[in-house]
Amino acid sequence: MSDKFRAAQLTKNDDGQSLNFVTLETSDLMEGDAVIKVDYSTLNYKDGLALTGAAPVVRAWPMIPGIDFVGTIESCDSDRFNPGDKVILNGFGVGEAHLGGYSQKARVKSEWLVALPDGISPLQSMAIGTAGYTAMLCVMAIEDGCKPGDGEILVTGAAGGVGSVAIAILSKLGYNVVASTGRASEEAYLKELGASRIIDRNELSEKGRPLDKEKWAGVVDAVGSHTLANAISQTRYGGVVAACGLAQGADLPLTVMPFILRGITLRGIDSVMAPLVVREAAWARLAKDLDLDQLEKMTTVKKLDDVAELGASILAGQTRGRIVVDVNA
Ligand code: NDP
Repeated sequence: MSDKFRAAQLTKNDDGQSLNFVTLETSDLMEGDAVIKVDYSTLNYKDGLALTGAAPVVRAWPMIPGIDFVGTIESCDSDRFNPGDKVILNGFGVGEAHLGGYSQKARVKSEWLVALPDGISPLQSMAIGTAGYTAMLCVMAIEDGCKPGDGEILVTGAAGGVGSVAIAILSKLGYNVVASTGRASEEAYLKELGASRIIDRNELSEKGRPLDKEKWAGVVDAVGSHTLANAISQTRYGGVVAACGLAQGADLPLTVMPFILRGITLRGIDSVMAPLVVREAAWARLAKDLDLDQLEKMTTVKKLDDVAELGASILAGQTRGRIVVDVNA
């Protein structure tokens, strides 16, 4: 049987980086105790950074990008999984320092893998993908300090991947969600996902006051910079802000006032190195608390070859919701 498979490969030389579609063999893959036949990967913001070279997220060359995937175990040297098991991978430097998911085959450490939860298909798991799993981590942080009924929860970067999934989960859980977006044209989409109203992201994107009028019981922020600073300065006494992204910028120009006068909690959210127990809890919650009909509304499926164009699109804020990459199409 042929051991060959197709992958997207980034290479770099003095003229910059380029993306090619290549045929590889299992022996070309990096070390790991689990070989996986990949079904789907996805497009996340970080994949956009890798594909375009807009930020130095790729730390080994040549690199197969793709920070997540779902697939079937072909072989596994540990007792965690057996051939035929369906598994999900999110993060752990895959697609950055370890060959990633834009490939029909992957070899990784089995300790990085999570079993596909019951009730979610492989395609649905990647419609969720790393952005959706990160949204769940944000929601779990919000739940630590805010209950449904406490007040409005602001979601920034709303029409993107993290934002779309966060809105759908929060609204299913009974929270009153306000979506901040730069795309007024997506109002109907965001309301269909469960937002009660939308605000223009320009209301948050410029330098604001250290303490502003109290508005939000909690915040899920995918944007960073002035947007996150303003969201914090508008959070109500004792509220929780979950910070996971940097779509506007990695800076955070704020003062200590919201923390020392209003007792705000700022929760950092990292999906990449999150421990297995946290990942499994998040995926179990996704299987229960995300309406799969809503997930379908935010999902587009693309082919492996399409990733060449998609990197620039996600960085330009032109993609909506979640993009699944069918590596076998
Ligand atoms: P998307 O590109 O799908 O969504 C980002 C959204 O942010 C856009 O759709 C847009 O929403 C908004 N946005 C884009 N540019 C700007 C800007 N200049 N100012 C304000 N808003 C902007 O990305 P993802 O949802 O996949 O990821 C969102 C963020 O979360 C990224 O920064 C990503 O790196 C981070 N992330 C972090 C993880 C972690 O482990 N901490 C894991 C996954 C993602 P709209 O059009 O509605 O305004």
